[in-house]
This record gives sequence, C-alpha cells and structure tokens, in this order.
Amino acid sequence: MSRMRFALVLPLVVICAGSGHADDIPEARSFARPTDTFVVSKLSKFGSEWIEKCRPHQVWKVHCGVDVDLRHEGKEVLAAGDGVVRYAATFDLSGRWGDCVVVEHRVPGVGQVTTLYGHITIASSIAPGTKVEKGTTVLGSIDPDVSPPHLHFGVRLASFDASNDVASRRGALRNCNDPICGAKFPEHWTDPVAFLQQHTQPSVTETAQKALDEAQKNIEKQVEQKTEEYKKRLMQRMAEAIGSFFRACVERLAKLIREAIDEI
Ligand SMILES: [Zn+2]
Repeated sequence: MSRMRFALVLPLVVICAGSGHADDIPEARSFARPTDTFVVSKLSKFGSEWIEKCRPHQVWKVHCGVDVDLRHEGKEVLAAGDGVVRYAATFDLSGRWGDCVVVEHRVPGVGQVTTLYGHITIASSIAPGTKVEKGTTVLGSIDPDVSPPHLHFGVRLASFDASNDVASRRGALRNCNDPICGAKFPEHWTDPVAFLQQHTQPSVTETAQKALDEAQKNIEKQVEQKTEEYKKRLMQRMAEAIGSFFRACVERLAKLIREAIDEI
C-alpha cells in the first residue's frame, strides 16, 4: 500500500518499462511461490480495503495483491514462473517503496499474465528484457528499509501495461472521480493465493506432454547415434572394398607384366 500520488509516479513508469511482444515470452506451464515461506498477513490479503486522503475527499482503496513474509528483510524473491521482465526500477522518488519488478508470462489456456514483486531490492542481473525461470531466477530480496519489510506480490490476468501494473501498488481506487488522482482503475487483478493454488502443480496433460517430449528426444538421439554408426560401418566397408579392388588390380598388373616379360 502506498500514499504517493499517481501523478508523481507515472512518468517513471513510462521511462523504466520495457515493451515487447507475446512471442518473446517463454511459456509458463506452472508457477511457484516467490518466497519459500510465503506467509500472507491477515490485514494485507488481496482485496482488503483502506481509506486514503485524496483531494478533495478521502477515498477507499483496494489492495491489488498480497503482502507476504513480513519482517523477512533480505529474503530472496524468486520469479514465480518462466517469463520475461517488463519493468525493473525504483517506483517513486522518495525510495520509501523500494524497487519493483514486473514479469510477463505466457500461460497456456489463460494467455498473458503479469506477476508483480514490490518492496524489493532488485538483483543487479535483472532488467527489462531479462528472461527468467520459475523458482530459479532471483529477482531481488525483500527491502529492509520498508516498514515492516515484506514482499508485495500481485498477479494480473492481462498483458503488461505499465499504467495498470506498476501504478497498482497504490491500490485500486474504489470510488473517486477526481481527475487529479489521474488513476485508471487497475483491471484484471486476481488473488495471487488462488492463482498459485491453481497453477502451482503441473497438470496431468503437462506431465504427459513432458514425458512425450523426453521420449521424442531420446528417440531422435538414438536415431542419430544409429545413423552415425551406420555411416562409420559403411565407410569402413567401402574402404575395405576399395582396398581389395586395388590389391586385385596390382596383382593382376604384376601378373600381366610377368607374362609379358616371359614372352620377350
Ligand atoms: Zn501490498
């Protein structure tokens, strides 16, 4: 949750966001929790609401993600699924909110999905365009300067859109028509806990597909090996045949020469 104004942060969003096409996104067949403990605080569940001052009114805001692993400063934050980094930068000018990473995924049967990791210190290897792997790529670590330190984790069922993805860290605006807020209501956010429950385990189809892929690779490898062996054997036979032919030629020639000499 945040108290910064959208008007301050949107220019940063435009500067730091990377853009791309769906075909450069690795397929994400399943997802994993971004931290090993992943404890969701009761007060910061997806959809929890709070009041925030907003000219000229106070407005209700809605939490667009979950806050996990409170007080675990320094804990590694991993990519929740295979994908490509679309945004990796400090979110606001004060630095109070630390850094934020957005990863875009291509999920079979779902389409493009983004996962958002807020309040972290970004790893030096992470930048827009970086390809990441589920549960392996370290995006960063929980920022110790946030009070209390925690990871804000969000999931959005849509392709990357800087104004919706990154700005959502201030929460969805429940009811404000004030143009100064400047916020488009963030859409397509979903409960990360439910999303992970649905997508953590690989499906039976996925497991079967992996087994088929593996079998196909083994068959291709065996065919390749057999082909190589056949080529070697063929070359050996040809060499032997050519050798025999030349030996016979030489013997025949020697015989002819001997006969010619005898005749003389
Ligand atoms: Zn949060």
